[in-house]
Amino acid sequence: MAALKSILLFRCPKCHKANLFLDPNPYHLKNISKMHKRCPVCGFDVENETGFHFMSMYMSYIISTVFSIFFLIPLTIILGLDWIPKLLLLNALILVVLWPLIFRWARMVSLWLTVRFKFE
Ligand SMILES: [Zn+2]
Repeated sequence: MAALKSILLFRCPKCHKANLFLDPNPYHLKNISKMHKRCPVCGFDVENETGFHFMSMYMSYIISTVFSIFFLIPLTIILGLDWIPKLLLLNALILVVLWPLIFRWARMVSLWLTVRFKFE
């Protein structure tokens, strides 16, 4: 549960205390990807090799797909097949609005995986 909370709040996957992004608001798009090099509390190396965050691109795809599945399937079952075009449009709009959060969550999941499976 601590891991999920750390991911959702952009906290360090090791100490769960420090926010790893320089700007805590993900909707300040100019600073969306700017992170500390190391955790200010425990010194965890956030970018342990060049291009490390490239993996986050795939992670954001996975997060978006999982969200879409959990959003579309239940609503299609409840509302019926006629609603699919409207639900797809609504899903796309929600993903666009959530994009900055998904971008950062993908990075946090990638970092959490390195700590959990000791890739560092
Ligand atoms: Zn830390």
